[in-house]
Amino acid sequence: MSAQQIRLSGPLERDSIVNGYGLRAVLWTQGCARRCPGCQNPETWDFRAGMLVPVDEVCARLSEFKGQAGITFCGGEPFEQPEACKIIADWCREQLGWNVWSFSGYVYDELRAAGGAKWEFLKSLDALIDGPFVLSERDLTLKFRGSRNQRLLHLEYGTGNIMRIE
Ligand code: SF4
Repeated sequence: MSAQQIRLSGPLERDSIVNGYGLRAVLWTQGCARRCPGCQNPETWDFRAGMLVPVDEVCARLSEFKGQAGITFCGGEPFEQPEACKIIADWCREQLGWNVWSFSGYVYDELRAAGGAKWEFLKSLDALIDGPFVLSERDLTLKFRGSRNQRLLHLEYGTGNIMRIE
């Protein structure tokens, strides 16, 4: 595994039904620079807050979660810690057979343009909910999203290509 660490804003969750299809584990990353007005998790903005946890320890804890369809990375901004997120994502897919979703305040094209570790993490996903929360676009009827500008992108694992937009 890896000696890498990840900064989390809270404990790992299980059995979530609001962050993607099926029962899902949820990993909350700490740190986001966007500061969207109306953000539901402003306590996750500070890059020095939360707790640093070894990636190995995260994986060990996730392996105790039975009956999950997948894992969703929430924030904070998961793409500010793309290397650690990718290690965990790949481990969950390979060792637990889970599908992998992530939220991001970045839009898909920004992540593609960024390349590097951000794009590598994106290629490990099955779905991305992209874009920042925009208060003026707020819509409580949307599935898994808070505002109308956010898209649920179903991705081709391994290439990052968009298969379908929901
Ligand atoms: S991108 Fe997400 S976590 Fe960051 S400020 Fe906006 S809504 Fe909050």
